[in-house]
Amino acid sequence: MSDHSVLGKFKPMSQLNKTTKKSYIELNNNEVSSLIKELDESQFRVQQIQNWVFDHYVETWDAMENLPIHIRDKLSARLPLHPLEINYITDSENASTQKILFQTQNGYPIESVLMYDQKRTTVCISSQVGCAVDCKFCATASMGFIHNLSTGEMVDQVIHLQRQSKTKITNVVFMGMGEPFLNYRRVIKAAEILNKKMGFGARRITISTAGIVPKIRQMAEENHKYKLAISLNATNELSRERIMPLTNTYTLKSLMDSAHYYYQKTRRLITFEYVLLKDINDSPNDGERLLVLLESLPCKVNVIPYNEIGGSYNRPSENTINAFLDSLKHAPFTVTVRWSKGTEIDAGCGQLAVHGDI
Ligand code: SAH
Repeated sequence: MSDHSVLGKFKPMSQLNKTTKKSYIELNNNEVSSLIKELDESQFRVQQIQNWVFDHYVETWDAMENLPIHIRDKLSARLPLHPLEINYITDSENASTQKILFQTQNGYPIESVLMYDQKRTTVCISSQVGCAVDCKFCATASMGFIHNLSTGEMVDQVIHLQRQSKTKITNVVFMGMGEPFLNYRRVIKAAEILNKKMGFGARRITISTAGIVPKIRQMAEENHKYKLAISLNATNELSRERIMPLTNTYTLKSLMDSAHYYYQKTRRLITFEYVLLKDINDSPNDGERLLVLLESLPCKVNVIPYNEIGGSYNRPSENTINAFLDSLKHAPFTVTVRWSKGTEIDAGCGQLAVHGDI
């Protein structure tokens, strides 16, 4: 787990207050208009402020140079600009990954990851503080569920990361801490702001779920164009139940039914993620079962060799990983392998966790 010994600022989570002042990032267009009206200023200021925030990613009201000082003063007396503050940044050795620890206004810690690739710059953002889903191989599970992030707190991760980033962010994935579909409404709203106000194409925004079946159906019905990823990780009920206890509530069968429903309704391919765990789900037989499970559904598969979190699981050897991939050689779906970035700084998939007693 990460070394957070530098984080003197954080209070134990049990002592945090639960209410906050709404920040500018959380306001919708009508709310921004009313705010400007209440301050007795002209409406063209709305667009100026939007540009500073969503195109220039400024940190303070004071940085908005074309706003008269009296307006900046009124605004800063009235509300905070950002709901998040950067607390600490960890760089990977080869500088391809940065892990950013934020603090919400009411003091909760959350982590996001910035990853540079040749063609892409991706940010992985959190949707909750902690997580209730309790997947046995994921570090966030050890925090338990603490708090749902607001829409603004999700969007603000991207704004801060864009300011940090050497290059333009091209992709946003909701794959950090938390289960996005247990915070569905706010996550969809955040995706909408990223799409409409920040200019991220819908297909460059991915929402990943552990398998909250009713929300997969809802996303299909509401016809959102964001990419959907499902963390599958097993090929039969029993083995999935062992590593993902939510299978007790949402069976593998009901999950696959919802995935078929999603495809029929939207004609968009789902990406199934499959964390490869040594001696648990990594044999060629598992590969063959995966093939049977998915062959009638147009989709993609992303194999993620397990990242260490100090528990009882291990990453399979390279030979085993290759044999597993080999068993999928003739699959009708595309298979990719995600060698997570930033594992040495605990920024890989499933490694994000911050504990309250730091
Ligand atoms: N709750 C959501 C998003 C967060 S997890 C979900 O389950 O999809 C993002 C991805 O990381 C998931 O596919 C998950 O299966 C994977 N993951 C979790 N722990 C991991 C670990 N220790 N090593 C590799 N991948 C992991």
